[in-house]
Amino acid sequence: PVSRAGHLLDDLNPAQRRAVEHAGSPLLVVAGAGSGKTRVLTRRIAYLLAERDVHPGEIMAITFTNKAAAEMKERVADMVGARARSMWVSTFHSMCVRVMRREAKTLGMSSNFSIYDSDDTRRLITLVARDLDLDPKKYPARTLAVHISNLKNELIDPETATAQATNDLERRVAEVYTVYQRRLGESNSLDFDDLIMRTVELLQTFPDVAEHYRRRFRHVLVDEYQDTNHAQYTLVRELVGKAGGEIPPAELCVVGDADQSIYAFRGATIRNIVEFERDYPDATTILLEQNYRSTQNILTAANAVISRNPNRRDKTLWSDLGEGEKIVGYVADNEHDEAAFVANEIDRLVDGGEVNNSEIAVFYRTNNQSRVFEEIFIRLGLPYRVVGGVRFYERREVRDALAYLRTLANPDDTVSLRRILNVPKRGIGERAEACVSAYAERERISFAAALRDLDRVPMLNPRSRNAIAGFVEMMDELGEMVAREDDVADILEAVLEKTGYRSELEASEDPQDHTRIENLNELVTVAREFTELELPEGAEPVPSLPAFLERVSLVADADSIPDAESDGVVTLMTIHTAKGLEYPVVFSTGWEDGVFPHMRALGDPAELAEERRLAYVGITRAQRRLYLSRALVRSAWGQPSANPASRFLGEIPQDLLDWRRVEPSRSAPAAATTWGRSASGGIASRGLTRPAPSKTGWKDAPAMKLEVGDRVTHDKYGLGRVVAVDGAGLRATATIDFGGSGTVRLMLIGSVPMTKL
Ligand code: ATP
Ligand code: MG
Repeated sequence: PVSRAGHLLDDLNPAQRRAVEHAGSPLLVVAGAGSGKTRVLTRRIAYLLAERDVHPGEIMAITFTNKAAAEMKERVADMVGARARSMWVSTFHSMCVRVMRREAKTLGMSSNFSIYDSDDTRRLITLVARDLDLDPKKYPARTLAVHISNLKNELIDPETATAQATNDLERRVAEVYTVYQRRLGESNSLDFDDLIMRTVELLQTFPDVAEHYRRRFRHVLVDEYQDTNHAQYTLVRELVGKAGGEIPPAELCVVGDADQSIYAFRGATIRNIVEFERDYPDATTILLEQNYRSTQNILTAANAVISRNPNRRDKTLWSDLGEGEKIVGYVADNEHDEAAFVANEIDRLVDGGEVNNSEIAVFYRTNNQSRVFEEIFIRLGLPYRVVGGVRFYERREVRDALAYLRTLANPDDTVSLRRILNVPKRGIGERAEACVSAYAERERISFAAALRDLDRVPMLNPRSRNAIAGFVEMMDELGEMVAREDDVADILEAVLEKTGYRSELEASEDPQDHTRIENLNELVTVAREFTELELPEGAEPVPSLPAFLERVSLVADADSIPDAESDGVVTLMTIHTAKGLEYPVVFSTGWEDGVFPHMRALGDPAELAEERRLAYVGITRAQRRLYLSRALVRSAWGQPSANPASRFLGEIPQDLLDWRRVEPSRSAPAAATTWGRSASGGIASRGLTRPAPSKTGWKDAPAMKLEVGDRVTHDKYGLGRVVAVDGAGLRATATIDFGGSGTVRLMLIGSVPMTKL
């Protein structure tokens, strides 16, 4: 056969080629954004198959999203054909589900376990905390969930957490963690973090299981390695195995960029990349320096920003795509003005034939910023799609329907069962539920088992007893369809009919309920399509219900990103979600201190460094055109606040920027309109008369000097006391407690309608 190596290596630079050809020792490819890391990883897989006679079944590759996994698989298949199909290419979570389904029995679980997402987790933690009599104000479920998740990401089990606890909060967390973990077990369920932690436990506790996987996977490849947390890191180590064992370690290839580590809040640690060489002493490191994605102006801006971060390895990243356009800057009056600018600019670019909608992305720091863009895009008839936000699978009716399916697949799934016990209403009240729950807890049996043991549940009145018996009977009937392995779409239809869920919505006058019916129909369609999916060659058919539920629970934000070629829509998403992607035109919005960088980061160097990496990620998604905008005033959560420019904007060399509009001079009534509130108390955001933009105005406006404790009087807000001051010069702001008018953060430049007392 003709060697295909030439074909596979042709369009790579020498460093990339070395990474693809490298054999034997662990390989670390570290490089800045857009330097072809993902391309190298994909190409390396193709090369292993085509040139090194590796069997596809020996390859495990890990990506950050399911969508990225699907694309990688497809690309490899394009290069080497259909046999690429038996590789494992997936996210950490999907990979662990696969392992756990096979090995559940070893850990004393049954393989039909449910996967709890963050909402289920919070529900269960709420139940546990209530049973432990914890004050929900002092220990909100959300907080407890974060702490428990952090422990799991560090592979700390409940016993260790209990032993290590040194203060009241930690002791409480450990207590909740212990009971929560037990309840998960009783529900035959795993939460997201468990998927990783329990897989690690499995591999560490059962050497023969570990050996099985080590024998099978001779090549382990990880993309976006900088965002692995300790648990994932350990998982990789366990899969690869150690030198000196019976089986030589698998070949490991990881690619990443320490400057793009943006998931510290999920326990990701750059340590994993920085200390790779120490952890794998015989490792080879390859650096890539040429960026193939962006023009030089965009890269220079990105490099300038990220270079402000302390303790980083400096990299040189260059592009031969030419300087390109300048980066466009825009200072808006408020978020509506910002959105209008973005929309108009998109219109102009598309009308001019330069790009089409699908080549354009709009980024923001947090999901709640999407609404304003949606409003104006709808008004202008500009087709768009929001990635993330309130997702389809988070809608109430969809969750209810899925809870039925999950209960049918795994009757021990208590969270799902209790969710639908009285939905739609069937006369099983909270008191009855509590009786059953107490009985189950006392007997240490599952809630489902207790429902079947009604005669022995104390204090149930006859009405509830009947209602519960009717419910159990209905679920048994539906359960027969599951036992027969009927199509999931048919089961779902039967659920919606038999439970009366659909007819209740149909009878309702509330227009929202009609949307709910549409969503449920959409879910049936998804299920139908799933049933009709063609099985990959060689794959064993699995009953469609569990497979469907698994697919649904692992859907992540990034998986709904529209395909570049298709759709013809503008994509809106958070910067976090944009990781790894690229677009010819990028609008990055909300460059304001307190928004981006996030408020939380202003006084915290570690958080600030993380935000700066986020800025780096955002900038480097752009290929040809980049727009950076900010608003002078932004209303978040109903409160208008005046935001100074993001410090990151100031870190970009100003000669790279083309300011379409700058901050108006503050000597005019600008400040008054900026602070102005409409009669209803909201910000007067539309119809502002704004002074003519001045190119220099904002640069020479003097700052007002204030200190913490100073008393002031403001034309609109009245008397107040300064509680914090931030930033200096043009970026100086003060947070002022105006008593009845609330606490407001104000910029101190120009003629602030305020006097120091
Ligand atoms: P990120 O850090 O954002 O994940 P990355 O390092 O993974 O980026 P890729 O996405 O693999 O970079 O590559 C960026 C772009 O450059 C892609 O469009 C890719 O096809 C292209 N590219 C990479 N290497 C080359 C090359 N040698 N020749 C031409 N194009 C290349
Ligand atoms: Mg990449």
